[in-house]
Amino acid sequence: MIAERLVRAGVGKLRIVDRDWVEESNLPRQTLFTEVDANEGRPKALAASNELLRINSRVSIEAVVEDVTHRNIARLADGCQLIMDGTDNFETRLLINDLALSQEIPWVHGGVLGAGGQVMSILPGVTACFRCLVPDLPPRESLPTCDTAGVLGSAVGIIACWQVAEAMKILTGNLDDVCRDLMVIDTWNTAVRLVSLETLKQTGTCLACEHKRYSFLSGEHESETTVLCGKNAVQIAAPKGTTIDLSQLRDKLAEFTTVSANPFFIRCEVDGHPLTIFRDGRTIVGETSDPSLAKNLLARTIGA
Ligand SMILES: [Zn+2]
Repeated sequence: MIAERLVRAGVGKLRIVDRDWVEESNLPRQTLFTEVDANEGRPKALAASNELLRINSRVSIEAVVEDVTHRNIARLADGCQLIMDGTDNFETRLLINDLALSQEIPWVHGGVLGAGGQVMSILPGVTACFRCLVPDLPPRESLPTCDTAGVLGSAVGIIACWQVAEAMKILTGNLDDVCRDLMVIDTWNTAVRLVSLETLKQTGTCLACEHKRYSFLSGEHESETTVLCGKNAVQIAAPKGTTIDLSQLRDKLAEFTTVSANPFFIRCEVDGHPLTIFRDGRTIVGETSDPSLAKNLLARTIGA
């Protein structure tokens, strides 16, 4: 939706990065994909790029099928005037934030959960940054995810369009008009509000924008994945110091899948893949040797 609006507005050059492929469950909330893309399991970046070129053949679209990490994000953002957030997890957003601040690239955060969402524009050195708002990775088990809370397609549309309105101000140089507040919308209860970020910015405690410590960019927090040879499974290590409240997580997962638990780990099954989640956050995803698929399932199940 973001890419479509940008292309229709005449933005000439886009680089779309996505590690995932199109599935039927994406269709209610994503406007560029069709059943054919889902049936053929086309990479999202590629499917989006094909459709965007049908809308406007004069634009240049670069489709990149990669997982964004601290190792490749500088290359992925190379030459970009603006970064748009179409991600679904805090780790990647905090990584984008570090990169954007360190290279002074503006970016527009957007997030949707359930029937609501939020938008925040970050102008490095001018506005509050995303880490002012989210100082650290929230504990995984405390967060609802798209699978536990669902996502309303119209909320995605509203948030995406709001992000693009901010993008147009930035790309046309109208920086004074860029919103300084966090924009929050709840479509179900019909509420829109602006949350001032001025106080957050003034505390002067933000590690990223105040102290220029880019710990997500240096890879300190990144989840590491290992393919477990001979087991057809992928292990995903959690960031250092993670402790999962297993009983809380069990209750959350029990809302949408069958969960078995013991004091050391819990087990559940998602899309035919058994997940074993340990107290230190380490997770083993079975029936696959594909790290991207494993990370995707983990993000959808317990958040990231
Ligand atoms: Zn900050």
